[in-house]
Amino acid sequence: MCRWGCPTTDTTHACKWCGTRFCLECHRGDFNGEMKVTKDATICRKCKQTGCVGPRVEYFPSKNNTNNKKPSKK
Ligand SMILES: [Zn+2]
Ligand SMILES: [Zn+2]
Repeated sequence: MCRWGCPTTDTTHACKWCGTRFCLECHRGDFNGEMKVTKDATICRKCKQTGCVGPRVEYFPSKNNTNNKKPSKK
């Protein structure tokens, strides 16, 4: 789940302008409340600029723990 509580893990982005992190799924982030997302613009809540979606951060590629076999000793 993302840092702010929704079940996705790959929707956290950093603001292109100020670096504030937010989740595109639940629209929450390193600020109070939720950011404004319209059809064609995302507006950073910190710097108030549009088109603020920067690089994806805190993305954890699927953890395929194939190493998960426990020692089968009785
Ligand atoms: Zn989220
Ligand atoms: Zn910003």
